[in-house]
Amino acid sequence: LFITLEGGEGSGKTSVIHELGKALEEREIPYLVTREPGGIRIAEQIREVILNPAHTEMDSRTEALLYAAARRQHLAEKVEPALAQGITVLCDRFVDSSLAYQGYARGLGIDEVLSINLFATAGRFPDITFYMDIEPEVGIARIAAAQGREVNRLDLEGMDFHHKVREGYEILAAMYPDRIRKVDASVSLEEVATEIRGRLAAALKD
Ligand code: C5P
Ligand code: MG
Repeated sequence: LFITLEGGEGSGKTSVIHELGKALEEREIPYLVTREPGGIRIAEQIREVILNPAHTEMDSRTEALLYAAARRQHLAEKVEPALAQGITVLCDRFVDSSLAYQGYARGLGIDEVLSINLFATAGRFPDITFYMDIEPEVGIARIAAAQGREVNRLDLEGMDFHHKVREGYEILAAMYPDRIRKVDASVSLEEVATEIRGRLAAALKD
């Protein structure tokens, strides 16, 4: 199974992914946890280029292509080989991030960004995507309260950008109703974990 976590800033994807890992461990399902952009050497280097706060001149299409390139390498080098061995892959962000952030929020167009990503992924989509939905103000406040989080170029964006990201995810949830499962991420991490464990159990049955 290929499972991805999606959502805006401070929605708790990284925390919840470890809960999903525990749930799989209890079921003795082999899995690995990874993230985008990154997960392997080349993609981590591309991540540094994309997110460097000094790179204010980055063009939106360049950004979209770099995400797609990082995605391709990560998929080819790590995700596909794991799936081929029957290992469940839990990935923090995947193609929906590009569609919501670059496609919708940056205004490149969801369809345009989807087309470069279909090239990058050769059509691979997640089996299940948990979309962690949160009011952007709440998510940003969580990040501000967290210690030691890396500063990145996205921190320069205003609230209107984050609201657009959320709108983008809503559009995607309507586009892919079977794959994308929306989770209320405004509650405590404990409650989110319980909710997501229940959803995972249901998904493993069908
Ligand atoms: O998920 P994580 O917080 O590590 O993502 C790093 C940054 O990259 C975030 O600020 C996120 O908003 C941004 N990002 C983006 N477009 C994507 C994926 C991530 O702007 N397609
Ligand atoms: Mg995270």
